[in-house]
Amino acid sequence: MADTLFHKVWNAHRVRTLANGQTQLFIGLHLIHEVTSPQAFDMIRQHGWRVAFPERTVATIDHIVPTASQRRPFLDVMAEEMTVSLERSCREFGITLYTPDREEQGIVHVIGPQLGLTQPGLTIACGDSHTSTHGAFGAIAMGIGTSQVRDVLASQCLAVEPLKVRRIEVNGRLSSGVYAKDVILSIIRRLGVNGGVGYAYEYGGTTLDAMSMDERMTICNMSIEGGARAGYVNPDDTTFAYLRGRRFAPQGAAFDRAVAWWRQMASARDAAYDDRVTLDAGSIEPTVTWGINPGQSVGVSERIPTDADAEALAYMGFEARAPIRGTRIDVAFIGSCTNGRLSDIEEAARIVKGHRVAPHVKALIVPGSQEVGRAAEARKLHEVFIEAGFEWRGAGCSMCLAMNPDKLEGRQVCASSSNRNFKGRQGSPTGRTLLMSPAMVAAAAIAGEVVDVRTMLEAVPA
Ligand code: SF4
Repeated sequence: MADTLFHKVWNAHRVRTLANGQTQLFIGLHLIHEVTSPQAFDMIRQHGWRVAFPERTVATIDHIVPTASQRRPFLDVMAEEMTVSLERSCREFGITLYTPDREEQGIVHVIGPQLGLTQPGLTIACGDSHTSTHGAFGAIAMGIGTSQVRDVLASQCLAVEPLKVRRIEVNGRLSSGVYAKDVILSIIRRLGVNGGVGYAYEYGGTTLDAMSMDERMTICNMSIEGGARAGYVNPDDTTFAYLRGRRFAPQGAAFDRAVAWWRQMASARDAAYDDRVTLDAGSIEPTVTWGINPGQSVGVSERIPTDADAEALAYMGFEARAPIRGTRIDVAFIGSCTNGRLSDIEEAARIVKGHRVAPHVKALIVPGSQEVGRAAEARKLHEVFIEAGFEWRGAGCSMCLAMNPDKLEGRQVCASSSNRNFKGRQGSPTGRTLLMSPAMVAAAAIAGEVVDVRTMLEAVPA
């Protein structure tokens, strides 16, 4: 039977099958950051080990970095200590580190692709759940825990269970005002937050074929929210065009040779899948979560379901059958590794231009990397946001996980372009998160409540 990309990449990186049935998998690229690596480095030191492949390991500071001022030393003592600790470890073990004083710094899942480190056919691991983002390039990318970070540092290998592959095909054109974020929220709503357990998701179909790399990254980013260990898109001309000329991508004739290899790593036309699901892009509308996991969502024109989970309703303070449209928000956050890229900021700016943020809303826009921030500033997009009343910040994870000063307070409701709406996710134990596309966040910031961005786009030039 013909192979999927997943099986081809898996087999190309298999070292051996372990007695317990797991695969010992060689990891082509190990991305690390300041939160899940310190104990791993401590364990390496305790054993007197070395980092096996420092040249295949790249570090950045993202989760804890303050976004209001990134001047060192950080005012947040803990953030400064964690940064100093990673600096020391990277120096000691010969690992490249991108700190905020380096122009390459940014969220780990934004800078990997940007630098051309993320390439088709690779196995990628990182101590962060949203490592699946890199699958947009046709890599098998998995989030790992701290003890696995240690394993990869020490051996460049990971012991992992083999996965089944589910092909998720989305076909047709997305309507204006409907984005990649709406597609992935719709997929998770349909298949459930545990629907992907034991699977890698292969995304395809005419909708995915037409998407940019930024959009594909948004889709793959949230695979883990659907329970899938990895998610990927087969590499194609869009992938190769994105990678050409990137700093760590092969150059010149080597790039052409790489493209030939990357192409044949894509799933065969007659590849066999363990499951198949299809969605019609035309049926997807701007989508908003109402609950405490990313599967609890509705289209903006819909009402919260009649049989909505009681725990979620109680936490959110919502009622079954209530419309999601019109929900008052306190905070608007555009950023994160899901939707903090240039195209996200450009689209949000299109909505915001000429409007003012509602007086009761605190609105933040946080580029996913310094490069994204510079590119947006070169287009003067920061001026659009500042004039509208947004705070324009430095690059980092910011209010996605709030391991930094950007936090919700009390029961605030946040319209967020990030990826998780768990209880307390954004820094306040009682804070409430509504996930949506960056364009929908921009529209909510202006209206002061959840609105249908399509009504605002009617007045915006394409
Ligand atoms: S933006 Fe959020 S999900 Fe992404 S790496 Fe940072 S904390 Fe993790």
